[in-house]
Amino acid sequence: MAVSVTGATGFIGKRLVQRLHADNHNVCVLTRSKSKAELIFPVKNFPGIIIAEEAGWKDCIEGSNAVVNLAGMPISTRWSPEIKKEIKQSRIRVTSKVVDLINNSPQGVQPTVLVSATAVGYYGTSETRVFDESSPSGNDYLAEVCREWEATALKVNKDVRLALIRIGVVLGKDGGALAKMIPLFMMFAGGPLGSGQQWFSWIHLEDIVNLIYEALSNPSYRGVYSSIHQLDHCSCFPYKSVFIMLIDFFHMFILLLFTKISGVINGTAPNPVRLSEMCDQLGNVMGRPSWLPVPDFALKAVLGEGASVVLEGQKVLPAKAKELGFPFKYPYVKDALKSILS
Ligand code: NDP
Repeated sequence: MAVSVTGATGFIGKRLVQRLHADNHNVCVLTRSKSKAELIFPVKNFPGIIIAEEAGWKDCIEGSNAVVNLAGMPISTRWSPEIKKEIKQSRIRVTSKVVDLINNSPQGVQPTVLVSATAVGYYGTSETRVFDESSPSGNDYLAEVCREWEATALKVNKDVRLALIRIGVVLGKDGGALAKMIPLFMMFAGGPLGSGQQWFSWIHLEDIVNLIYEALSNPSYRGVYSSIHQLDHCSCFPYKSVFIMLIDFFHMFILLLFTKISGVINGTAPNPVRLSEMCDQLGNVMGRPSWLPVPDFALKAVLGEGASVVLEGQKVLPAKAKELGFPFKYPYVKDALKSILS
């Protein structure tokens, strides 16, 4: 298989490219910076990998069977109006470019699969509700970003199989949330952020890479909730919630009618935890106490509105992945942390 990957130089992308390369797939790294990508994927370790800056994306995509779209500006930063704009626009810009290139590929060389990242932020936040792929979108800023990000990916030609992966907090050693938490626990300064009661829907890096890999190669990974999802984006239809309920009821029937519709798959482990439990487990595995809570006001002082990313969460279940029989290697956070920190 030939696969083009945006965001390949990032935390998830790096591991995905390593895996695809190890399995002898042809990989094209679509990046903004060739020199950065060449440092991450040196030719001696990754012979045959093609690295392309934006001018070369067209040739790569036209020569690929599949595209994985992971690019986007990191959100774990202090949000200013300009940063918020770039968090959203970076995702929409890259996704739009990828979709245009796929849609305009000549017949016969068009990729047949697009796996595009989105996030569990789609659902908004709640301490009490449980979300799966059929849940409606939330009302906050991140939900809006995810909706527009997904809507852009949904513009891909209908004969391209689209898997939208709503990713939870990815746990791995060399990046993401854990890389920020580990040093604090090492210095005996670890503890929950805010109340600790917020839900933490996590997934091990290896599992999210496997899920993306599976979505690339397994035609069943198109999602059963896609027709609902598309209606959810339709603001022109006044009775859409009634319709969504009806379609939910008949979704298997609808699937049979529209076999090429797009799919949403939650990329989260089956056992989300509250943040206080995550911190307790991290402390246990590291042999350090989880005793120093960081109050809301301190986080807000440092991160501004961006503090909402860690102070609020959502309990998201991977209903679709379970239905497809996806084999989670790390369903429990304790085992995930042990494997990462061992
Ligand atoms: P990273 O932040 O590690 O990497 C994202 C990549 O996107 C970068 O390597 C970069 O690639 C590209 N990028 C960064 N800024 C911009 C920008 N302003 N404009 C265009 N491209 C940019 O992301 P992750 O690997 O952690 O995540 C991959 C995707 O999954 C992201 O879109 C993220 O939002 C989503 N996600 C991740 C979660 C996590 O816990 N890690 C949780 C939920 C969703 P280059 O420089 O090569 O162009």
